[in-house]
Formats: sequence, structure tokens, C-alpha cells
Amino acid sequence: AIQFDNVEKRFGDHVVLQGLNITVRRGDRVTLIGPSGSGKTTILRLIMTLEEANGGFILIDGRPLTHELRDGKRVALKEKHRNEMRKRIGMVFQQFNLFPNMTVMENIIEAPVHVLGMRKDDAIARGRELLEKVGLPEKANEHPASLSGGQQQRVAIARALAMEPEILLLDEVTSALDPEVVGEVLNILRNVAETTNVTMLIVTHEMQFARDVSNRVLMFDGGRIVEEGPPDEIFSHPKEQRTKDFLSAVL
Ligand code: ATP
Repeated sequence: AIQFDNVEKRFGDHVVLQGLNITVRRGDRVTLIGPSGSGKTTILRLIMTLEEANGGFILIDGRPLTHELRDGKRVALKEKHRNEMRKRIGMVFQQFNLFPNMTVMENIIEAPVHVLGMRKDDAIARGRELLEKVGLPEKANEHPASLSGGQQQRVAIARALAMEPEILLLDEVTSALDPEVVGEVLNILRNVAETTNVTMLIVTHEMQFARDVSNRVLMFDGGRIVEEGPPDEIFSHPKEQRTKDFLSAVL
């Protein structure tokens, strides 16, 4: 489970998230929707520990992620603890973020070998299975620059899955892709959702994908949850005016 307990995030004077409480259960598939700037990406980056909250606590399976309460004070946890927590979380970004100087296989085995201490040939064997899963078995020795955007994103998905994460964060993973390859990337993610129990947090503008994959939708505005519910309810029968306005702008 992922728990946000009264989380606050500011950039300078700009308050992005305020007193945010969220609970995501293990195996949940949660889609975050809402206008640009409402803080959706920030939530994923906080979980990945790429950003640090200014207040409140984030817990993963009951363990604090970056800060804990000690003698009534909010105390930052050590880097070692954060690294330990981060191992359980995978993220796929809008811009792929593959290591350009490494081959596809080297990208995939980097973290399993160097972070988890997996044996190299085991990591490669697993890497081959994952390349099979994302439909790119013949690309192991290519460099990212020689792949299309859709192929790079499929490698990025394989790389995230190589860590066997409990939590997979997907940040607008199709936004930088040509329209004709969006479908193949979404199909791979549908398959991941169907064949694993990984907890997913998804930021996307692909509302059909959100409907297919998620069991909960959270609508954000101004750093707060405006409305939440199962996808059918939120997409077909939104209650809040802000949700209605947002959906009529994107659908
Ligand atoms: P979008 O759909 O456009 O990606 P979002 O809901 O994901 O929007 P965030 O990317 O989380 O929104 O950004 C929330 C707010 O925080 C925005 O106003 C953004 O400008 C601001 N912000 C995000 N990152 C930073 C940063 N590193 N420094 C300063 N401001 C930031």
C-alpha cells in the first residue's frame, strides 16, 4: 500500500500539494487526472523520491519513505533507507530517459546487477524474457538512438519491470509518441496489468486506457483531490463541476 498522510509540496512560494491524503492498496490501478499543473506528476516524483515533500509523510507498506515522526518531530531518513525503499518502485517517464551510451540490454540489466546485485547472466536471461514481452527480442544490442520513440518506450517499460517492482509509476508515457505507436505501448501496459499484481499509478491523457486498466480514478485540481471513484463513475457520471469541465475538454 501507498499512503500519503497530510503531504505538502511547495516549489518556492508556489504550493503544489496541500494536506494531501491518499491511500492506494496493493494491486490497485489508480489513474490521476486533472488540469495541467494540478500536481499529478509531482505525486509520482514524490513516490520515486525524485522530489521531497515539505510536510507530511509518505508510507510504503507502512514504512516511511523519506521522513518519519520521531519524538514529535519530522525527521529525514538516511540515503541508505531511501535507496532500499526505491528498489520496490519502478517509473516510466514521458521522455523514456534511457541511458544513451548503453545498449538496450545494458539499460535493462543495469539496475538489477548494480542495485539488486543480481548475477549478470541471470539478469540477461530475465532481460531477454522482458524484451520478448515488449515485442523487441531482436533489439538487445542496439543503442536507444537507433530505435523509434515507441520502441524506446517499450525498452523503458522492460527496464522498469526488470526490477520486479511492487509499484509501477507511469508518467504520461505516450505523450511524446507518434499517434500510430501509442496503441502498441498501451497494449503492452494492458498486458502488464493483466499478468502481474503490480500496483500502478498512472498519469495519462488516454482516457480509454485509464478506463480499461484502472480500478480507481482520482481527479485533481489545485493540489487537492476534487473527486474520486471507479472509472465508469468518474467518466460517465462525474458529480463535480470541475471534473465535468475537465472531461469535456479532454474527451
Ligand atoms: P501536467 O499535466 O502539465 O504535467 P501536472 O498535474 O503533472 O501537470 P506537475 O508537473 O506536478 O503538474 O506540476 C505542478 C506544479 O508544480 C506546476 O505549476 C509546475 O509548474 C510546478 N513545478 C513542478 N516541478 C517544478 C520544479 N522543479 N520547480 C518549480 N516548479 C515546479
